[in-house]
Amino acid sequence: MIAKHISVKYKIPELSVSSVVKTISAFLILALSISSCAKQPAFSGKISPRAVDGVIDLTLWDFEKDGPVQLNGGWMFYWKQLLKSADLKENQGHEIITTPGEWDDLVVNGQRIGAGGFATYRLKVLLPEALPNQLGLRIPSLAVQSAYELEINGKIINQIGKVGRDVTDSLLAKNHCIIPLPLNSNLFDIVLRVSNYHYSEGGLINPVTVGPLVRLQQEELDQANISWLLIGILGIIGFYHLGLFFIRRKDTSPLWFGIFSLILALRSTLVGAAYIYNITPADIQWLILKIDYLSFYLAIPFFVLYINRLFPVEFRTIILRLIIVISILFSLFVVIAPPILYTRSLLGFEIFTFISGLYTIFVIIFAVIRKREGSVLFLTALVLFFATFVNDVLTTHHVLNTGVYLFEGFIAFIFLQSYLLSRKFSNAFTTVEKQSLELTRLANVKDEFLANLSHELRTPLTAIYAYGEMFEHNDDPADMKEYGREIYSNSEKLISYIDDLMLLTRMESDIDMSSSETDIKEIIAENIDKLSKLANEKNISILNLAGSVPEIQANKKYLSKAIHAIIKNAVVYNKENGTVVIAAQNDNNMMKINVTDTGIGIAAGHLPLIFDRFYRVDSSDTYEVSGVGVGLFLAQKIIEMHGGTIGVKSELGRGSEFMVELPVK
Ligand code: ADP
Repeated sequence: MIAKHISVKYKIPELSVSSVVKTISAFLILALSISSCAKQPAFSGKISPRAVDGVIDLTLWDFEKDGPVQLNGGWMFYWKQLLKSADLKENQGHEIITTPGEWDDLVVNGQRIGAGGFATYRLKVLLPEALPNQLGLRIPSLAVQSAYELEINGKIINQIGKVGRDVTDSLLAKNHCIIPLPLNSNLFDIVLRVSNYHYSEGGLINPVTVGPLVRLQQEELDQANISWLLIGILGIIGFYHLGLFFIRRKDTSPLWFGIFSLILALRSTLVGAAYIYNITPADIQWLILKIDYLSFYLAIPFFVLYINRLFPVEFRTIILRLIIVISILFSLFVVIAPPILYTRSLLGFEIFTFISGLYTIFVIIFAVIRKREGSVLFLTALVLFFATFVNDVLTTHHVLNTGVYLFEGFIAFIFLQSYLLSRKFSNAFTTVEKQSLELTRLANVKDEFLANLSHELRTPLTAIYAYGEMFEHNDDPADMKEYGREIYSNSEKLISYIDDLMLLTRMESDIDMSSSETDIKEIIAENIDKLSKLANEKNISILNLAGSVPEIQANKKYLSKAIHAIIKNAVVYNKENGTVVIAAQNDNNMMKINVTDTGIGIAAGHLPLIFDRFYRVDSSDTYEVSGVGVGLFLAQKIIEMHGGTIGVKSELGRGSEFMVELPVK
């Protein structure tokens, strides 16, 4: 089975480089870890005896206190022989093989034997004088991955698949079992006949354990419960996310995550307690083995698709495609090739997964640096999972004695992913809610603007109409001049409104901002001149304190419009007999223009909004002043198009100060 390298429960890995690489790669592929999720009995501290020359001495082992023990060490090994207990002579020639471990590298008669073939294993187990309670033998599905026959004290106890002398005579099968041992003897003579023509590694690959039957069964039950819990959680999460996707198909991340979770749920039925293998007839186990491998090889592309949808900028599409193509090629190989070939592809795929995992970590760190939505949560989930993994490896090697938590870590990982996706979903709803509120607000603004606009256009038009009519019916030349002036100034107002409105519609697109050397002092003076009549009406004095300033690169027409809007506001929102002070100076290559007035001021609540399109402060003070709320909006846009900024300070009832900064060069 695929998960053999990380099986915490069944195998205490040797601390070799390859086992570390395999273990780390197993961590990265997530799915593989499920078989190791079962709780391991606490380490009693007593060192387990090892088999030497085919004998394991457990006479001093207290099963009740010290717990189950793995039958690891040197077993007798008869290559190319399928022997029965009765046929075995004490002095019969044999090899000694270290179990657990594949037989592939063993050298018999000067030759490496390789994965395919058949052999007999034998181990004598010496038990304590006072016989312990009923003992059992646990042979996990991971122990012998092909076919075996187990004989104890001359009696055939278990047969899995069909052990044969060649491929046509044998049948691959896996099973996960706990066998009660005979009660009447202090010595167990275990004879195990194994054949392998299907799997990339032959022999007794993972440990066989002997221990109190009740305890082994209890552990088995615990593991089964955990597996079912995991299958349930993954199944619900999987279907839930598929449901989410069908509601909102635009975002595919729940789809990929849903499929990934369902594949993991399927995988949980294949590893661990190996339920599916146990209930599958031997002649179709080859199919289950294919599904077993595919559930690993196909989980990876769905997981990377999911990460790519979460962090599309960081996860490069080309790498995504590469991972998908490679995974599909591996999967096709599993579909087409016989087991003896495709089981060999596992290490290659593990290395590929390891590299993909490193790339994924790199992507997530980048996403965190770039403050992508959900990236911190994703990293937290990964770190949590990794922490439980490190804890478990250290516990397995007895560096720590904290128990194993990979199952909890894995569940936390999956839950945090679900939380991340549901948060993404609810954020989308919140955005829609905010947008619809904003739309309602904008609709109100538009209505108000239209009402304002009709009023603002109608006032000068009515004046023009009235003076025109008087012009027609009055012949007094003294009045004519007065009428002409009124018609002229009202038409000017009208044209200025229409100019502003036209500029407003073109603002975002085709406005020509071509620039030339522009004299700010001149612009200020011209605008003071234009506004002097308006100022005189309220007896407002305008002070021009602009010093000698360099010319700047600007579009004179538009910049003048912006300055006009600011000075005009300082006049129209001023009080009778008020003052407007205009200053301009060059400070460190920044042209600073300040327009200060002693007018009505702006309440703090309105300040951030006065630069918005169509925004007007609605109060008794502003009621008299005509306007449509586009002056400051246009001024800000124009100044920003020149690379500058505009700001405001104001105190209600005391006056305001507008600060403009424009780059000189
Ligand atoms: P309008 O003057 O046409 O209403 P603006 O965009 O020029 O539109 O100004 C937006 C609002 O900001 C004004 O309605 C006014 O209430 C407020 N405002 C602007 N300048 C001043 C100022 N100098 N003093 C007080 N209020 C001001």
